[in-house]
Amino acid sequence: MLNKIKALEAIALGLEPDQETRATFREQVVRHSEKFLETIEELPAYLMTEDQGVGLLAAPLSEEGISMSEALELVAHNVDRPGLNPASGGHLGYIPGGGLYLSALGDYLADITNRYSGIFFPNPGAVRMENMMVNWMASLVGYPETAAGTLLSGGSLANLACIVTARDAKGIKAREVERSVIYLTSQVHHCVTKAFRIAGLGEAIIRYVPLDAHYRMDAEALADLVEADRADGLNPFLVVASAGTTDTGAVDPVDLIADTAAAHDMWLHVDAAYGGFFLLVEEGRKIIRGLDRSDSIVMDPHKGLFLPYGTGAAIVKDGKRLAESHHYTANYLQDALKYDGEMSPADLSPELTRHFRGMRMWLPLKVHGLAPFRAALEEKLWLTRWFRQQLMEIPNMEVGPEPDLSVTLYRYVPPQGDANHFNERLTQHVHEDGRVFLSSTKIDGVFYLRLACLSFRTHLHTIENCLQMLRDCIGRVKEELNMVSG
Ligand SMILES: *Cc1c(COP(=O)(O)O)cnc(C)c1O
Repeated sequence: MLNKIKALEAIALGLEPDQETRATFREQVVRHSEKFLETIEELPAYLMTEDQGVGLLAAPLSEEGISMSEALELVAHNVDRPGLNPASGGHLGYIPGGGLYLSALGDYLADITNRYSGIFFPNPGAVRMENMMVNWMASLVGYPETAAGTLLSGGSLANLACIVTARDAKGIKAREVERSVIYLTSQVHHCVTKAFRIAGLGEAIIRYVPLDAHYRMDAEALADLVEADRADGLNPFLVVASAGTTDTGAVDPVDLIADTAAAHDMWLHVDAAYGGFFLLVEEGRKIIRGLDRSDSIVMDPHKGLFLPYGTGAAIVKDGKRLAESHHYTANYLQDALKYDGEMSPADLSPELTRHFRGMRMWLPLKVHGLAPFRAALEEKLWLTRWFRQQLMEIPNMEVGPEPDLSVTLYRYVPPQGDANHFNERLTQHVHEDGRVFLSSTKIDGVFYLRLACLSFRTHLHTIENCLQMLRDCIGRVKEELNMVSG
């Protein structure tokens, strides 16, 4: 038996490379990542390929390992190359972010030490670090010290945690769901409506509040709807506002919405996954007002703080509500709360064992300081406004409303022919071109292109490239549709 154990040990030791091998691996991985970063300006923001990374499947897992350089070759060809390049400053579609280098190093540290960040008792420092990040965000929002929150994988799970909390805080039992009413706009992110279903609220009554001309929630219409529902004997319990919608970047009038929520004792949740960090700049604070009056909020550090994907924050003003919906046992919560009021992430979300997400946020914020984050965010606001101004110089270009934040809509309206068809073709040409990546949307049947400016790598020259690319692509569509060039 001892011989068997020793033989197994000899093979298992393959999992623990020695110092020299570690250095070689590290150097190979760093060289690979450096090559990527050094060419990031020239790499396409979007690359259409035939193979779509299928080469990975040609190299299935096997008993014998392969060399690091072979592995990196597979990554370079099949993962780094095809499709969207979200690390590029030219990523101006959906909602970008970029991916800070210091977050990658933070992840490296977190993964090497593998601290257990779920519970305070085994790893007080790791939990304090995460809670410190949450408390900082809570103070940005203007929440009092009663607030608590947690870092999850992204905005979708963070919204879910808040919706579940709202449901429980308002005492919505299964038998009451059908007469319970939730208010939101058609512009709310789809993960919120998905969260209703997961949270057992799929049969609740959903009221889509009309939008104003800026795609913001019409607060007066909300008040009328709630009053009518009350008069009908229904139970309005939740309103979901957005501080920066994904599609149009619109910021709902949270302060006015809060008046209605307060008057009817409703939970006010704000999805600020995209827009929340614009609170770091004065220009943003002029637009995003009244967040302190909400009951819960979601902010995505992997958007507005430029972290790599994998971090979204759920924060609840009355933090014990979040714990009441998510803690494991009442006795256990008692313990967790004993430690100087430091809550454990495991009591604040469905997760137990989890990635130590605090480190990837704390390290860049501490080492860079806040100033460059504020500057990068304000730069994005002005770049978006400048882009829109420049678009207005292009004949037949129609622009959407003045942007609240850093998303703007536009479309080309050809003198003859179907505008939707033209803009669909334009989007296709933009994707084939790939210098920068833009995405499109449809609002009330009208096809628009969007610009979403949020990567820390996007600067003036990126927007200039984008404008040039749009001009080129408009020309190509005209040629394709046999329109007279002009
Ligand atoms: C991105 C986004 C979400 C979803 O967040 P993920 O991090 O992608 O899960 C939710 N709401 C808004 C407003 C968003 O922009």
